[in-house]
Amino acid sequence: MENDRYYGIDVGGTSVKIGLFQGTRLLDKWSVPTDTSNGGDHILRDIVASLPGPAAGAALAVPGAVLPDGTVNRCVNLGWGICRPSDEFTAMSGIPCRVLNDANAAALAEQRLGGGKGFESILFVALGTGVGAGVVLDGKIRNGARGAAGELGHLCLDPGDTAAACTCGHYGCVEQYCSATGIVRLAAQAGMPGLNCKQIVDGAAAGSDRLEAVVDAACDALGRGIAGACAIIDPEAVVLGGGVSQAGEYFRLKVQAAFDRYAFHACLGTKIFLATLGSDAGLTGAALYAMD
Ligand SMILES: [Zn+2]
Repeated sequence: MENDRYYGIDVGGTSVKIGLFQGTRLLDKWSVPTDTSNGGDHILRDIVASLPGPAAGAALAVPGAVLPDGTVNRCVNLGWGICRPSDEFTAMSGIPCRVLNDANAAALAEQRLGGGKGFESILFVALGTGVGAGVVLDGKIRNGARGAAGELGHLCLDPGDTAAACTCGHYGCVEQYCSATGIVRLAAQAGMPGLNCKQIVDGAAAGSDRLEAVVDAACDALGRGIAGACAIIDPEAVVLGGGVSQAGEYFRLKVQAAFDRYAFHACLGTKIFLATLGSDAGLTGAALYAMD
């Protein structure tokens, strides 16, 4: 295979999405199931077995923190502890490989080709089961000294132990309010248990005052978190992605309004956009990272 082709590989907890790219052009994409048995031992082997041939490079986007030297500091959803998957991938495939956090990969893709196109610096926030985020400055993804740059989901909004306990061990993190699970929890607390996130947001958009109060609370927390992040990095734009953001313009306007309530005055004017690449953002960003 020509040496201008790259693999972008988005390693998720249930499936691995793989794209073959020539420049920014997606030539082909496919997926393989994620086998998390034996500490996720078979995942890389299954990926490599699915590749149609050699390439100039590849990158793995993984759901965990990645240190600057490529060491992965645990991916709970994959069963991985501290490991170096890029080395193993190269040993098995002969293809040079890099590794980055999956939200960071999506951030890079949205900045270059998606909702943040035209901006050199963005904050990207992915609202799914949890809240992931990534920071692109001067056109480069910033992974951070410990792989934790852009961990907006774990910005603490309410440290009291009456606030919701977070998976990270603290209380009142942004993720506990505006992830899909956070929104479901807020609705249950407001006396509306048993609804999923889409039902809550759709019901709010359709005119339910009680559900709208839940969505407003979620967007208020997210806007506060984004305002805090923007006071530090002052990006040109913010891009919202992930499943929750599929609520679209209704949701975006609420987050923008909340941001405008809390932002430092010099940050006012920062516009919040919706992501456009959908579930291809991770594999696309991984391929871009491989080419960088
Ligand atoms: Zn947390």
